[in-house]
Amino acid sequence: MTEITELIEKAQTTHSLKKDELVSVLNDNSANDILFKTADIVRKKYVGDEVHLRGLIEFSNICKCSCFYCGLRKDNPSVQRYRMTAEQIIELAQNAKDYGYKTVVLQSGEDAFFDTKKLCKIISSIKSLGLALTLSAGEKTYEEYKAYKQAGADRYLLRIETTDKNLYAKLHPSMSFENRVRCLKDLKTLGFEVGTGCLVGLPQQSDESLANDILFFKELDADMIGLGPFIPCPNTPLENEKGGTLIKALKVMALTRLLLPDINIPATTAMETLQPNGRILALQSGANVVMPDVTEQDCKQKYTIYPGKAGLNNTALDYKNSIVKNIESIGRTISEGYGFHNKIFGK
Ligand code: SF4
Repeated sequence: MTEITELIEKAQTTHSLKKDELVSVLNDNSANDILFKTADIVRKKYVGDEVHLRGLIEFSNICKCSCFYCGLRKDNPSVQRYRMTAEQIIELAQNAKDYGYKTVVLQSGEDAFFDTKKLCKIISSIKSLGLALTLSAGEKTYEEYKAYKQAGADRYLLRIETTDKNLYAKLHPSMSFENRVRCLKDLKTLGFEVGTGCLVGLPQQSDESLANDILFFKELDADMIGLGPFIPCPNTPLENEKGGTLIKALKVMALTRLLLPDINIPATTAMETLQPNGRILALQSGANVVMPDVTEQDCKQKYTIYPGKAGLNNTALDYKNSIVKNIESIGRTISEGYGFHNKIFGK
């Protein structure tokens, strides 16, 4: 046994590693296969073979923020902006239900048009369809989050993106790391299932910083973690930077599975974008969720957080059928349930 395989085994049995131990595993590529296999075993033990499908609705690409890595940043004039009506959003939720999805994820830029009243109305209409609802609409006040919860929202996604405060400040003009953390804590207090995550492979991001990200997920007691390899986007300040790798993103994901064994972890579209079988590799390295896009083609093409997004040219139904086929081809099944976080570890 090498030092790295010993650390992987320790993580498998104790679900805990110190920062320097996480850094050692992240730094060393000699046991990647063992790391991925071990994360797969832990995934099977704690969350089983079912894959939860969540239908993604990208309802507005208008954003008041200017995150350096994001194609939707307000300072990018090349984006054709759109905003769906409440009726369009609800119709897409109904479509998602018809495709057999049990959850919809409503995602947008930070678009002030959707004030609390408008958003709560949409939330309650979708909840009346019998779907679980995840919201991903950015930083809000405690009172706003509370209103969403009372309207029926079940989950909220807000990635921390990086826990390196200096890097966070460089990449997020006019935003504050402290407020981001405040939002996540408020969401936890209010009883949401909370999803967060980070970008992997950002310029100047170190393995120490990624280790801190994983420890942050554990400290927050997150219910879901989404990890995206950083993909440089044209017309952003980071367009000429080197992108992140699939392997590093999978390693952060596998370590997250080992340390938070019973949470939900999506095989992200960004992983599939970097490599055609990226999603399947992720499902075999700790992931148990897929979020197929149900947004109509014309809007989907304009939701350009990063370039070359996988599945852009498929209809929602074709996309679903091909994802289901791929999932079943590796012996996994599609969940019939809502896929809430079933807390087993640490109870
Ligand atoms: S990452 Fe989110 S908040 Fe930042 S610019 Fe893009 S859509 Fe807006």
